[in-house]
Amino acid sequence: MQHLSNEELIKKAISNIKIKIINDERKIGDASCVLITDKGNLYIGLNIAGHVGICSEQAACGAMVTAGEYNILKIVTVRKENNEISVIPPCGRCREFLTKINEENMETEVILNISSSIKLKDLLTHHKEYNILPQEYLP
Ligand SMILES: [Zn+2]
Repeated sequence: MQHLSNEELIKKAISNIKIKIINDERKIGDASCVLITDKGNLYIGLNIAGHVGICSEQAACGAMVTAGEYNILKIVTVRKENNEISVIPPCGRCREFLTKINEENMETEVILNISSSIKLKDLLTHHKEYNILPQEYLP
């Protein structure tokens, strides 16, 4: 089982960035996700941006599910824009997406930078909190 620090996972994600410009306008591969599973395996994905695109987290999860794994211990995404690298948390859709693969991924550690991280469940506060309104609100 691999034990990789936040910094090692961030560096791994950075090393996989492969920016490509499509049709002189659309950039893909500028965001790179690395996740590590409970079995200690790493999966990598790059974003394919566009109206029907996917995030790098979804690409990494596709590789993970293809390998028959579902439980994510840690996940990190980095993005290169201009001459800067940023660590970015998963978008709202990806937060939900990660829990749809496995409810236990609520415990996934989302890396925010070299020295800090947050549990996915803490990025999904009020998740599935439905408040039924009184009957008078029915149309
Ligand atoms: Zn996303």
